[in-house]
Amino acid sequence: MALYITGHKIPDSDSICSAIAVAYLKNELGIEAIACKQGEINPETAFILEKFDLETPITKTSYAGEDAFITDTTDLALCPDDILDANVLGVVDHHKLGDLTTSTPLEAWIRPVGCSNTIVKEMFDFYGVEIPKDIAGIMLCAILSDTVIFKSPTCTKADTKAVKELAQIAGIENPKELGMEMFKIKSAVEGTAIRDLVMRDFKDFNMSGTKVGIGQLEVVDLSIFDAMKEDLLKDLETLKSEGERHSVLLLLTDIMQEGSELLISSDDASKIEEAFDMKSADSKMWLDGVLSRKKQIVPFLEKVFKN
Ligand code: MG
Ligand code: MG
Ligand code: MG
Repeated sequence: MALYITGHKIPDSDSICSAIAVAYLKNELGIEAIACKQGEINPETAFILEKFDLETPITKTSYAGEDAFITDTTDLALCPDDILDANVLGVVDHHKLGDLTTSTPLEAWIRPVGCSNTIVKEMFDFYGVEIPKDIAGIMLCAILSDTVIFKSPTCTKADTKAVKELAQIAGIENPKELGMEMFKIKSAVEGTAIRDLVMRDFKDFNMSGTKVGIGQLEVVDLSIFDAMKEDLLKDLETLKSEGERHSVLLLLTDIMQEGSELLISSDDASKIEEAFDMKSADSKMWLDGVLSRKKQIVPFLEKVFKN
């Protein structure tokens, strides 16, 4: 029986690249493993896979009765819907510990670093398996993406060390330059449907029983959103009315200014204001220095929804 490796719903580069890298490692260790994804890849990931000439993982959304290995999340809301009916044999993640449980013992690689691929690098080192050039390249790109080219407060020494070592293997002289190239691709949002932008990097969170959806768009210049902000806000409202979410938020992150504008649609916006101790104006607020959803947004909201 093959082992299926998958990252979270609405996959980002870390989810895709970690699934490919872990699948390669498992195969080297004699376990038949297949890299999977739970949804379509984003333009940044497409750029990365094309650059290193690697195939896109297969799409697989049902895992009941199968052996599975989860990367880049342990939140049930972001795992395949039937994951509790699967045999989860392992996880590798760098987020808060989620609510995924298993029926059998598992290997758990969880650490507070900037990217799952940094931990995957440690897995290769642990098993003494050499990382091929192309896989080193995509792992490096995933780390640059998740750490916003080392600027995110989630970035650790382990991440910069991993990038250094992976760059050597992949033959990349200037990782930061490659990172900027990636973020420019990410910033090309014009001509994309508003809903696609809202959903591009969107995650649902269960906050003490309250469902909160948070999207994030990271760009090199926030002004590209000037003409679309009202449409984005309107779509957040529509999205909220379509489901059972209490709040739908969109984080517009300027990686050069190093801060984010938060667009808010909420049944009770005072909760959001309380979380960040700030008043919103026209359903927007500027959060200076905020780059990370997992470290600078989610914990503050969870605290408010706990009360
Ligand atoms: Mg991710
Ligand atoms: Mg990640
Ligand atoms: Mg991210």
